[in-house]
Amino acid sequence: MALERTLSIVKPDGVQKNLIGEVCRRFESAGLSIVAARMRHLTLAEAEGFYAVHKARPFYNDLCKYMTSGPVFVQVLEGEGAVARNREIMGATDPKKADTGTIRADLAASIEENVVHGSDSAENAAQEIAYFFSVTELYPRTR
Ligand code: ADP
Ligand code: MG
Repeated sequence: MALERTLSIVKPDGVQKNLIGEVCRRFESAGLSIVAARMRHLTLAEAEGFYAVHKARPFYNDLCKYMTSGPVFVQVLEGEGAVARNREIMGATDPKKADTGTIRADLAASIEENVVHGSDSAENAAQEIAYFFSVTELYPRTR
């Protein structure tokens, strides 16, 4: 497996419920390193740009509104197979379908308000990281 980076977001519901620390603890316990992090309150234009791939989906407008409903905690995770590892730790999109022990199964309220975002491929991870961070803001330590 290769050393990878991926973008993670604690969504507005997760921040509101004081879950930033719990989410970060799960990543770090699983061997992923946080190499960049910041809080942001996204504008509607920023949320729409971030989720542009979902533009045609029926939930797009609600999703963008929800993502701007409060601050989010955006971070870059680094580790072996970080993209897939993060998705495993997050669990399935719908918390009802997510495996026990995953963030979404344990902590999420609904398919929309599901606490975390995670990049779904190495290509998208690179794009999503660049959407929020410049290379000089990343502090790799696993080398
Ligand atoms: P994931 O976040 O697991 O990669 P998607 O990329 O398919 O899931 O969807 C992006 C986000 O859109 C989801 O995390 C969730 O917040 C929202 N979403 C997805 N499907 C639905 C749906 N059927 N109804 C409402 N919101 C949805
Ligand atoms: Mg996705």
